[in-house]
Amino acid sequence: MSAKIIDGKACAALVEQEIREEVEALRLRGVQPGLVAVRVGDDPASEVYVRSKEKKAEELGLAGRQLQLPADTSEHDLLEIVMALNADDTVDGILVQLPLPPQIDASKVIEAIDPQKDVDGFHPINSGLLQEGRAALVPCTPLGAMRLIVSAGVVIEGAHAVVIGRSSIVGKPLAALLLQENATVTIAHSRTRHLATLLQSADIVVAAVGRPHLITGEMLKPGACVIDVGINRISDTHPAVRHLTEERQSIARKNGSILVGDVEFESASKIAGSITPVPGGVGPMTIVMLMRNTVVAARRRRGWA
Ligand code: NAD
Repeated sequence: MSAKIIDGKACAALVEQEIREEVEALRLRGVQPGLVAVRVGDDPASEVYVRSKEKKAEELGLAGRQLQLPADTSEHDLLEIVMALNADDTVDGILVQLPLPPQIDASKVIEAIDPQKDVDGFHPINSGLLQEGRAALVPCTPLGAMRLIVSAGVVIEGAHAVVIGRSSIVGKPLAALLLQENATVTIAHSRTRHLATLLQSADIVVAAVGRPHLITGEMLKPGACVIDVGINRISDTHPAVRHLTEERQSIARKNGSILVGDVEFESASKIAGSITPVPGGVGPMTIVMLMRNTVVAARRRRGWA
């Protein structure tokens, strides 16, 4: 058996089309959704992420801008900037790129963002609303993962879903979303015993751990839907490289490293019913869901459904 590959890029392109239509509908009502990304310091990875978010916003017709602050910005100054963005009516979405420098308490900053503009969905008010199954701004990666499960044609209601990882940005919100769709949800984590036994009954498996190839094919129930959120850069000498296809092994050798997921794709794709690749699975969905959240925020702030 060979699994259906869930194409994150193709699914993201469909969501982008929906966003374009919603942006156009807002334009006709005189609104251009505005997204501001705040970056403190010059972490190169954050710079790449923020630039790609800004670019995607522009591409889809949103007003995207970036506030780049020096690495020694004080917590007080950052909180003032967040307050000013809260009060700015042209701004619908605010995101503060993490990690923040050590002098700044990230949770204080997240809690200062107006929950209606919290497009990352990290504010405790939004996570509380999500747990209650009420309308909230939901973190982007779990939203993207859900969309991929639906796109694979998987029946979520009544399914046993095992979410591996319990972070506030991926595992917990994803478990809440699956529960809302009437899955029976198990959250596994670093202290879980007998993960392989749990997976034997899992119709849906979401791996959000950050451990290369933690999940292998023989752990899965035949036909399961497997969503691999993990992104791990491993060197070409890492033992996991041996399990890649010849083609991927030669890419690893050429570049000295390669990106792999938490799931050993080569063995898992022989057992699963559907599976996301890494890269090209969950990754492309995250950024489009951020744009979608900004459009949703623009509508809800104005009391439009
Ligand atoms: P995290 O480090 O905050 O959480 C990891 C979780 O994995 C923890 O809850 C921990 O209990 C669990 N865990 C650790 N070892 C385990 C084990 N051996 N067995 C079972 N569970 C174990 O990580 P995160 O921020 O949730 O990210 C998880 C992964 O997803 C990372 O690889 C990250 O890069 C990736 N990620 C991808 C996207 C995307 O857009 N594709 C977005 C966010 C995160």
